Amino acid sequence: MKRWIGGGLILLMIAVLVLRGREGESRFERQIYVMGTLVTITLRAPGWAETDLAALVATVESDLNQFQQRWSPRGRGELAQLNAALASEASASVPAELQPLLTAAKGVADDSFGTFDPGLGALVQLWGFDDPEHFRELPPPADAITKARQRPHRLSHVQLSGNTLRAESPGLLLDFGAMAKGAAVSAALQRLQTAGISHAMVNAGGDLQVIGHAESRPWRIAVRHPRPPEDAPRLLVALELRDGEAVFTSGDYERYFEHDGRRYHHLLDPRTGEPATGSQSSTVLHEDPALADALATALFVGGSERFYDLVDEFGLTYAMLMDDQGIVHATPGFLERAQWLTDVRFAQEQAAQ
Ligand code: ADP
Ligand code: MG
Repeated sequence: MKRWIGGGLILLMIAVLVLRGREGESRFERQIYVMGTLVTITLRAPGWAETDLAALVATVESDLNQFQQRWSPRGRGELAQLNAALASEASASVPAELQPLLTAAKGVADDSFGTFDPGLGALVQLWGFDDPEHFRELPPPADAITKARQRPHRLSHVQLSGNTLRAESPGLLLDFGAMAKGAAVSAALQRLQTAGISHAMVNAGGDLQVIGHAESRPWRIAVRHPRPPEDAPRLLVALELRDGEAVFTSGDYERYFEHDGRRYHHLLDPRTGEPATGSQSSTVLHEDPALADALATALFVGGSERFYDLVDEFGLTYAMLMDDQGIVHATPGFLERAQWLTDVRFAQEQAAQ
C-alpha cells in the first residue's frame, strides 16, 4: 500500500512536471502596444528558456517601434521627412528605408481601380482619423474636401524612377496606414523565424500572420462580425490557417463617428475624398501580410462593384466582403475554408434566386 502511494505520488509529480513543461512549451504570450494597436505575440518554442523568449519579443518590439517612427506621416521619421520635402517640391528622393514599402504600395495603388491609394494623406488628416485626440464629430466642410483633392493625392499618378519620386505638383502627402500594419507583422514574423522559432502567431488587433501550427492542430482564428446580431457571438467566421498565412480585415466599426444617420469611418474612397460607402467589412487571406492589408482596404473601398475585378487583378484565392446590406461576397476558395459562426446571406444565393 505504502509503495503504491509512493509510486502514485511520484507519478503525480511527473505528471505535474510534464504539464508544467508543456505549459511552458506550449504557449509563450506577450502583448506590446505599438502603431496604435495592441500586438499579441504567441510563440510555441519547446526547449527555449522563458528569458530568451522575452528577449526575442523585446527585439521585435524595438523593430516595431522603429517602423512606427519610420512610417508615420507626422513626426521626424523618414516618411515625415519625405512628406515635408513633398510639401514644397513636386519631386524628392526616397530614403532607402522607405523604398520597399513605397514600391509595394505603388504596385497596389496602380492596379486597384483607384480604391487603394496612400497618396490621400491630406484627406486622412482633414477627416481627423489619424489623430484620436482630435476626433471629429462632424464631416469637414465640402470646400475643404475639394481643396484637399486639388492637391496631388494619388500615388498612382506619381513617377518612381530609381530613388526619385515625382508628383504632378507640390503638396502630395503620403500615408501608409492601410499597409504598414501588414508590413510590420511580416517583419515581426521574419524576425522570429530567423531566430529559430517555427510556430508563432503575430496578431495586431485582429490582423495577423502565423507560422507552423498550434499544439497538435492548425492555428485557428476568427474574424469579427461588423454588425453582430443581438445575443449572437461577435464573430463572423473562423478559419484554420496554414504555415505562413496572414489574415487581414478592414471594417467600418473601428474608427468612426455618426452624423445625420450616416457613419463616417476611416476608410476613404480616393475617388471621392469621403469615407467609402457600400461595405461593412472585408477580409483577405494571403501569404504576404502587407498585400493582404492593402487589399483588404481596396476591397472595402471597392465594395461589391469591384470585388471580382480586384480578386482577378491580384489573383486572390481567399477573399470576402460583407456589403452594406450585410450580404457576403466570397471567392470559392474562401467559401471552402470558412466556418461561419452566425447565419449569413450570400450574394451567390441572391443571384440564384
Ligand atoms: P486598419 O489599419 O484600421 O485595420 P486599414 O488597414 O484599412 O485599416 O487602413 C486604414 C488607414 O489607411 C486609414 O486610417 C488611413 O490612414 C489609410 N487609408 C484610408 N483609406 C485609404 C485608401 N483608400 N487607400 C489607402 N490608404 C487609406
Ligand atoms: Mg489595410
